[in-house]
This record gives sequence, structure tokens and C-alpha cells, in this order.
Amino acid sequence: MKAASPSSTESLRSTPVFNETAPLITLPGIGPQKAGQLAGYGLNNIADLLNHTPKTYLDLSRVSSSISYEEPRLYQATVLRCSNRYHKPKKTTTSISIECCGKPCQIILFNQPYLKNQLQAGNTLSFLGLAQHFKNKIIFTQPRLLLSDHPHCLPIYPTIGPFSSEWLRKRINSALNALQEVSESIPDYLLRIHKLPGLLNGWQSMHEPKDVLAGYTARNLFLLRLAYHEFLLFHLQLAVIRRQLREQARHHTYRLDKPFKQLIQKRIPFRLTLSQKKVLRDIMADLNSPKTMQRLLCGDVGSGKTVVAFVAILAALYAKHQAALLVPTDLLARQHYHNAVSFFPDYTVGLLTGDMPTKEALTTRKKLEKGLIGLVIGTHALLQSHIHFADLSLIVIDEQHRFGVLQRAALQAKSTGLDLLAISATPIPRTLLLSHYSDLSTSVINELPPGRKPINTTRIIWDERKKFYQTVRDRVINGEKAYIVVPRVDYDEENPEITSIEQMGITLRKIFTPESIGIVHGRINTQQKQSAMQDFFQGQTRVLLATSVIEVGIDDQEVSIMVIENADRFGLAALHQLRGRIGRGERHSDCFLISSPQATPEGLERISILCESSDGFVIAQKDLAMRGGGIIAGSEQIGGPSFRHGDPFTNRELFLRARQDVAKIMLMANPPGELSKLIHAFEEEVSMISFS
Ligand code: ADP
Ligand code: MG
Repeated sequence: MKAASPSSTESLRSTPVFNETAPLITLPGIGPQKAGQLAGYGLNNIADLLNHTPKTYLDLSRVSSSISYEEPRLYQATVLRCSNRYHKPKKTTTSISIECCGKPCQIILFNQPYLKNQLQAGNTLSFLGLAQHFKNKIIFTQPRLLLSDHPHCLPIYPTIGPFSSEWLRKRINSALNALQEVSESIPDYLLRIHKLPGLLNGWQSMHEPKDVLAGYTARNLFLLRLAYHEFLLFHLQLAVIRRQLREQARHHTYRLDKPFKQLIQKRIPFRLTLSQKKVLRDIMADLNSPKTMQRLLCGDVGSGKTVVAFVAILAALYAKHQAALLVPTDLLARQHYHNAVSFFPDYTVGLLTGDMPTKEALTTRKKLEKGLIGLVIGTHALLQSHIHFADLSLIVIDEQHRFGVLQRAALQAKSTGLDLLAISATPIPRTLLLSHYSDLSTSVINELPPGRKPINTTRIIWDERKKFYQTVRDRVINGEKAYIVVPRVDYDEENPEITSIEQMGITLRKIFTPESIGIVHGRINTQQKQSAMQDFFQGQTRVLLATSVIEVGIDDQEVSIMVIENADRFGLAALHQLRGRIGRGERHSDCFLISSPQATPEGLERISILCESSDGFVIAQKDLAMRGGGIIAGSEQIGGPSFRHGDPFTNRELFLRARQDVAKIMLMANPPGELSKLIHAFEEEVSMISFS
């Protein structure tokens, strides 16, 4: 059943014929500009448009018996008079006097003069409209006129940017009319098992339902289909990667002998915690086993994961192999490099970051190829295809949750039979851990090093800021160091209450002396960043003004004050990571969360959670509760593709079922055509990153 033609002139224009992958520009009413705008919202082709699901359905089978000024309703009226007024060429106003719900009303329509001939006094007219009071009259402006065979139910869509529900409905109708072929992306047997609609059928019943109830049912089923499809792709991609990197036999051996153990003792300046020791035993057992190590190390911020990774790296270097340490930011790479140089005095350590001078990078590359560098520490630059190693045996990925599955694969593909240690501070719920990292064994550090003093966390309200910074100044004068984190780099005139580096720099130079302030953010070059960090580490500057670039890994035991401006604008995980930068030394540490004047209730809630708890796991749980599955759905958290329609948390059942389906598919000799194509495409993708 097709919807009745709307009260516009364009419905009769001939529509082209295409399939669901055709670009949106093929639809009447969508030119290059609109197509560009829609692409900005992630809508590129017909399928994207048809996947836009109605938010509600309007019941058009029941005529309203009273006039509503609040919501559009369906009315039946008697036509009294109809007249056209002509303004400029091609501009007309048609005014129809009607009697509606026993009252005289008026309908105003623009540029449809032909309607006058179709509407005679005494005719009955159905329309959908919102009433307005205007100069003692009841007016309906541009209502939707319905022909006698109008549908009983009208889908209402969420607007997309400037595109109204009405506009979208017209485009969706013409897309459905013109759709000739649809290639089904989920095999029949899976649709049947999970009772999901086919693509064409699903679109038709959701966008053109026979009544409201059928509409909601179809829409909910279609949403499930969308989620299932995403989950299926996700698990397929993961399975392909795993198959390509299947547990390999060990290629490298390690010498975990007595002198090695003595060397460890010599290098570590403190006593390891019990957790750290336990994890090290896991790692040493892995390195001794016939299969390669594939291990995930989890532990809260500041629990001392780095030293554990360094010991694993030492095992590789001691056995005369190479190791690579992958990190998400330049700052962290440089900090690890700095520490590694003193931790591995007998070995050569190299650095490779994206914004390093080409010549320097080239030298490091050459040395890696020749085996002149033992440990290389780097960012994404390490993943480039022209980076080769002489004898790589171990890779360590710090802050693993910042990387994708494909990036992990790219690094693992640098050699065969590699040992892998992935490190993450983000506590991941167990079920998801199983589904996403099921190929990794897990070790957990569940205690902090001894002697840590608890961090005091306090909320500062906006109006107290001035007075508050005086106390920070006094403490800095007395020898303390502080991080001050702001959400933006540039001042934004439209949001003056969002603190920026630009603005705060000026303020802080007045409160403190200009020489005592260092600044880092993502938009200054490496050299500036490096020297700002160095000056701060060495204590020449005492206050470091930064964006959240310092969120990961930065470790300076001297800093005892963390101030976060507009703290309500940061996520819970980010706040917890930022706070984890302090409380690492002897001094008592304070974290101050400044709330914006326009803070949302959720923002304030996050601040109070931080004030109450310092346990990363508790905070992650609250984060889950506040954000639902979004926290996990985000690609950063999982390190895999992101989800747009499905949510692995709320749809966990379906997520796990898709996983089972994929396990079976991977065992099939000949998976159904649509899946074979997909698997092939994924294989191609993985081999491209590995070998190009
Ligand atoms: P994270 O787990 O967040 O990566 P780090 O590895 O950066 O934490 O460790 C945080 C700080 O704790 C470092 O300064 C490190 O030297 C120190 N540290 C780690 N383990 C211990 C320990 N067993 N005893 C004392 N200090 C430790
Ligand atoms: Mg770390």
C-alpha cells in the first residue's frame, strides 16, 4: 500500500529506478547541496535513508472532534468557500473557508491555485493540521490535505538537521516507489532463526504500515534487524582477524634464568606489589610456553602497569630480540622513552612518532631494520607498512582501548609468532571482555602501590573561582606543582563560560608569574610540547595549563594539585584518568573540579560521583549506568568498529547470538553468498594493513 500523494506538486514527477546502494542524489528533490548536507549526517545512499526509522505514528483513522492548538490532528470539514489571490507571477495564496468541529475556520495554502477547481462548496475535506488563533479567527496554515483513500497511519520521523519529518517522508516514499532491486545482506536462514524481517519487506512495513499498531511492530522489528546486522558484521570482522592471526607457535625463545631475575631486581627501585608479582608470573609462564603470549593486562590508573611491561620488554632484550611499545599519544611516547632510557641502560631505545622530523624517523627506521635498536617506542607511526624489524619478538600496546582491532592486527602482522601484551586502564565488564578479547588471556592488577595517600576531590562552584585560585597560588608559592586542565584551546565567543587555553593563559599569567606557567595542547608542535613538558618535569615551570592531552599516562610524582575547569563537560572516564595524574608522590594531593554556571544535571552528577569515589571499577559501573551501553558501543572503548544502531549492552542477548552465528559461519565450507563476499572483503582489508 502506498501513501496518498501529499499536497505538493512534485509527487507526479517521474522517478528513476535504482537499487538501495544508489546515492541519494538520484532521488527527486535532492540536489548536490542537500546530498552533501545529508552525507554530513551519515546518510549517503538510499539504504541509509530507508534505515531512518519513524519515531512515532500518527493515527489517521480517527477524526478529531475538537480543535487543538497544541498538536496536529486529523479533521473532517465542510468546504464553504474557496478563493485564490495572485501576488507575483507564480505566487498564489489559496484561502478555503470551512466549517470544522462546528466552528468557522480558514485554511491557507500557498502556490496550489489548481485546488480551487477541485474544491466545491459543500464538499467534505479531510486534512491534517495544527490550529492557530489569529485575529479572532481559527487558521490552519499549509495543512496536509488527504484524498479519500488516505493511509490510516502516518509515520513521523526524527528531524535530521534542517530536514523535517514531512520532507523526509516524501523522500522515503519516492525511494520506496522507485526501488527495483534490493540485495539482502543477511542470509535467509538467519532471518528465519531470529524472526527478523527481510530488508525490502522490513522497509515497506515500517514506512507504509496499514495502521499504527502494525507500524510500531514493524519498526521495532526493523530496529532489531539493524542491530543484529551490525553485531553480525562486528563479530565476522573480529573472527576474520583472529583467523588471520591464529594462535601461532612460538618463534622466539627467552632466557628467563637466574642472572635475568637478578637484573630485574637491580632495575626496579621499589618493591613490587603482590598483584604486580602475580602478573609477572603469568607473563613469564607465557614466555616459557610453546604458544605465543596473547595477554591483556588490566589495572586502575596508577596501579603500576608500566613497570610490568618494562620487565616483559627486558626479557625480550635480554634474549637479544627486539620489542615494540605502541602508545596513543606523542606525549606518552616521549615519557616512556625517557623512563626506558634509564631502565634499559644496556640496550638501545628508539622513538618513532608521527610528527618527528623525517630525517630522524628515517634513522630510527634504518636502525630497526638492522637490529641496532632493541626497543622502539612509538605512536601510530609504528604501524606504517614500511617499518620493518630485524628480529621483533614482543609487542606491548599501552592504553589498548585507544586502538582498534585492526591496528592491533597491523602491529601483530609485522612478524610471525609474536608475543603480545595489551594494557588497559578501562575496566571492561566481564561479558564484554569475553566477547571482545576472548582471544586474550587476562591479568589484573587490583591494588595500588603502597604509601599512596588518598586524593581529596572537591567541587568548586564558578563564583568561587577567583578566591580559589588565590589558594592555588599560595600552595604553588610554597613549592607545590599543579595541572590545570581546560576543555578548549580557543576562546569561543558564543560560549564564554567554557574556559579556553587562550583565556586561561592570560588569567594565570596574572595570578602566577608568567615564567611559572607552561602550556601544552594538541595544536602546538612537538618541540614546543616537549620543552613545555621538560620544563615542568624539571620544576622550572610550576603550573601546567593543558587540554586533556595529558589524560593518558603522564607520570610526574611531584604534582599534587589537579584543577579541572568546566569539569561537568568531561566524561567520567576522562575525569578519573585525569585525576589519576596526581597522588603519586609523598605529598597530600587535591583534585578540584570546577563546575560551569550552565552545568547540566548529568554533568553535576558526574562531578559528585568523582568526589565520592576513587575506585576505577566503581566509576566505570556508574558510567555504564549513566550512559547505558554507549560507553561500550564507542569504538574507543572496545577497540573495534563502532555501533550506530545496535547497543551491545542493552541488546546483549542478540549480541551474543550473533557471536554464536559467526562461530558457526566460520566453520562452514561454503557460507551463503552474501556472507562469503563479506568475509572476503574483510580478509582483503586485514591483508592490506598487514602487507601493503
Ligand atoms: P599506570 O598503571 O597508570 O600505567 P604507572 O605504571 O605509570 O601507572 O605507575 C604509576 C607510578 O607508580 C609510577 O611513578 C611508578 O614508578 C610507581 N610505581 C609502580 N609500581 C610501584 C610499586 N610497586 N611501588 C611503588 N611505586 C610504584
Ligand atoms: Mg600507564
